[in-house]
Amino acid sequence: MNIIDGKKISSEIRAEAAKKASLLAGRGVIPGLAVILVGDNPASISYVTAKEKACAEVGIRSFPVRLPREASQEELLGHISAFNSNPDVHGILVQLPLPEHIDESAVISAISPEKDVDGFHPANVGKMLLGEDAPLPCTPHGIIELLVRCGVETSGKHAVVIGRSNIVGKPVACLLMRRKPGPNATVTVCHTGTKNLAEYTRCADIVIAAAGRPGTVTADMIKDGAVVIDVGVNRIPDQSRKSGFRLVGDVDFQSVAPKASLITPVPGGVGPMTIAMLMDNTVKSAERAARLN
Ligand code: NAD
Repeated sequence: MNIIDGKKISSEIRAEAAKKASLLAGRGVIPGLAVILVGDNPASISYVTAKEKACAEVGIRSFPVRLPREASQEELLGHISAFNSNPDVHGILVQLPLPEHIDESAVISAISPEKDVDGFHPANVGKMLLGEDAPLPCTPHGIIELLVRCGVETSGKHAVVIGRSNIVGKPVACLLMRRKPGPNATVTVCHTGTKNLAEYTRCADIVIAAAGRPGTVTADMIKDGAVVIDVGVNRIPDQSRKSGFRLVGDVDFQSVAPKASLITPVPGGVGPMTIAMLMDNTVKSAERAARLN
């Protein structure tokens, strides 16, 4: 079977986090995660709900905040400031995207770097780039964990990343090129400025697709035996579903799967890993705080 079971691997990581959380609880420290949602974007609501559910399972106390779409930036910053100084809160997550009138980078920068469990704060991004210890962004870190736990040899291999966003493309490229004991891969980053995407993907041992466009990767673009990680989450209208839509990735799964040595499905691949790494980051932050006390 060449389908990577992200749900299974993520549940292993969550079980490990739960074990650490219960050790902390034995010492009187309950890991705490503030989960802030502004507005009522249906996808964001479902992500936040899934994150809070995972918190409950792992033994993390969640501190939910729901603000209306029209909430001001000052109000949001006020909540962040309160959580920054609350010792019961070890992680602060602001669900993105934010409404247009709110400056996303000002909000991310307002989160204390020690509590930045999304790994988006510029100080933590800088540390990641320098190879210093810092909370790693959850989706890219989850992708690396999938590769490691599936025993994929990455050292000396050619990885092609499709996408250059700050939350997936750039950080996953950065992590993939980390020297041993990191992945130690040779990395090519493709984006909307890339002239012939297939020329690059056909030479790839590992393809990471994070374009946010269905059908970006088709069978003719993949060499036999490549490892294909599909990060894309795209909602396609589907009247046969109760929800009225179904989720597909960026990879044409039906045609690519027979050629790939390993491939992630959507859903059930990278998505669950993002939540697992968030749990891991929150528990690690609580462990750090407990050590300092
Ligand atoms: P984004 O829109 O910010 O970035 C997309 C990137 O892909 C851009 O850098 C763009 O240059 C590149 N791109 C787009 N079309 C391309 C093409 N045809 N050829 C080459 N490059 C192309 O998106 P993002 O936030 O990085 O997210 C990417 C996808 O991953 C989305 O579908 C998103 O929903 C999904 N995502 C999933 C998770 C998860 O947990 N599974 C987490 C984050 C993002």
